[in-house]
Amino acid sequence: MATSKSKQKFDAVIVGAGFAGLYQLYCFRKIGLTACVLEAGDGVGGTWFWNRYPGARCDVESFDYSYSFSKELEQEWEWSERYAPQEEILRYINHVADRFDLRRDVQLNTRVQQAIFNESGNCWTVTTANGEAFEAKFCIMATGCLSIPQKPSIKGLDRFKGELYYSSSWPKHTVQFAGKKVGLIGTGSSGVQMAPIIAEQAAHLTVFQRTANFSVPAQNEPVSRELSREVKAHYAERRARGREAITGQYLSANDVSALEVSSEERQAEFEFRWRGAGGGFRMLRAFSDLLRDKKANKYASEFIASKIKNIVQDPAVAELLTPKPDLPFGTKRLCVDTNYYETFNRPNVELVDVKASPIEEITAHGLRTQNREFELDMVVLATGFDAMTGALLQIDIRGIGDQPLKDKWAHGPRTYLGLAISGFPNLFIITGPGSPSVLSNMVHSIETHANWITDCISRIRERGCARVEANGSAEDKWVDHVNEVANRTLYPIGNSWYVGANIPGKPRIFMPYVAGVPAYRKIIEEVAQKDYDGFVFS
Ligand code: FAD
Repeated sequence: MATSKSKQKFDAVIVGAGFAGLYQLYCFRKIGLTACVLEAGDGVGGTWFWNRYPGARCDVESFDYSYSFSKELEQEWEWSERYAPQEEILRYINHVADRFDLRRDVQLNTRVQQAIFNESGNCWTVTTANGEAFEAKFCIMATGCLSIPQKPSIKGLDRFKGELYYSSSWPKHTVQFAGKKVGLIGTGSSGVQMAPIIAEQAAHLTVFQRTANFSVPAQNEPVSRELSREVKAHYAERRARGREAITGQYLSANDVSALEVSSEERQAEFEFRWRGAGGGFRMLRAFSDLLRDKKANKYASEFIASKIKNIVQDPAVAELLTPKPDLPFGTKRLCVDTNYYETFNRPNVELVDVKASPIEEITAHGLRTQNREFELDMVVLATGFDAMTGALLQIDIRGIGDQPLKDKWAHGPRTYLGLAISGFPNLFIITGPGSPSVLSNMVHSIETHANWITDCISRIRERGCARVEANGSAEDKWVDHVNEVANRTLYPIGNSWYVGANIPGKPRIFMPYVAGVPAYRKIIEEVAQKDYDGFVFS
């Protein structure tokens, strides 16, 4: 791709080269659009390019967490484990980029800073931190839901003389833990995946926990040749079942209420999902009402609490690891682990409650909480992301009347279908707030969105129109609907990144659409069938 400083013109600019940006490029080529993908990193892969920390892996099964658009790709790729590790997913995305010759339209090391809609020209001008400018009729934000790390404002971070790493921008070289005293801050999914591996190698690991979250065993295992052959022989059926499942991946769901069965039956069902049946997110589907009914939810919380108590030998540590009643099970992203709770039985691991005694500062040689000093050779920060809106609001996006997106979203994100924003014509978001997004198998949702956007743009071209824009009242109705559906569940109660609770000052809005993938897909398909109901073409 040319790198001249003059304004480069394309039919579409796509921001981000993760699963979303690459597939959107593939789709646009199919309908003959010229497109370029601008990516801040020096490689493709998005999440899987940045998050190289030890133990990083997906918690959706590999056979589902993969593109479905190419039957040949499905057949030729071999997954090694039920839940693929980061390096394998990154290899897969790179394979996809090569196999479909996508790289020639991807410009790496290019951070987009601004996107401005030109009303007279009906096009977007996208400018980058390198000072380049791109002009395109359509702008697609494939910037990711978990791509802007939340860097904590701990005093003294820059003073630390040891090694300091962020899980979300882990270096490419191998980090040596052997013989070192390591401090891990953060016990969300990344911290939970990392702790057991660091503990095996380091001289000592101190885990600093602010909030205990629920974690369930992945029951990860190698994929046998027989299983791979079996899945590939029936891949179409597997994908079809996934499409009809609430999260876009088929996990046997129990349609029975947790309140309708005996305590023995309840226990047996939870146990089955903890130990067998593939582990992981299956626990969320143990009963139909776990995320709708407080009493049903409490049964699940109590089951996991009992597991923690059984696994963790020190009762005080077990108590600290047990989520408190103000966090209903599943309302914060469920962690899926391999030996997380067991790690706290190791003599070289300590758990520190930083809610009771907050971290006051990082010192030159460690860390100081309100009541104790810790000497550390390495600090690892697994402190999460400014989820769903972070990457979009980091770009200065301006629509009609030069309105900044950050003003429009000052009280929380507002979209139509999680795909488009009123006042911002010809701009689309992939897996945006107001769509199932992070509550789903993201690769499935990404394909759904990119296909929908591609069809919508084809329609604009067929009609000879210059613009498509979400109608303000359709957007208002959608936002109300998203809130109303969320409020029928327990989700908004949890202090999670789903509601922005991890970012000081972020408006508290439950951002994803909880009604599930099939219900959502039906809605967006109907919108398209009704000639893009709720959109204005001009
Ligand atoms: P990303 O992969 O985040 O890619 C977005 C890209 O946009 C990034 O490369 C970023 O550098 C780039 N970008 C952002 N802003 C700019 C800018 N201004 N200029 C230029 N480039 C920009 N999802 C699941 O479904 N299952 C899982 O098991 C799962 N595990 C996860 C584990 C971790 C550690 C994390 C962080 C996320 C996980 N996710 C999981 C969510 C994951 O983000 C998605 O599954 C998927 O990878 C998203 O792809 P994407 O292309 O939409 O976004």
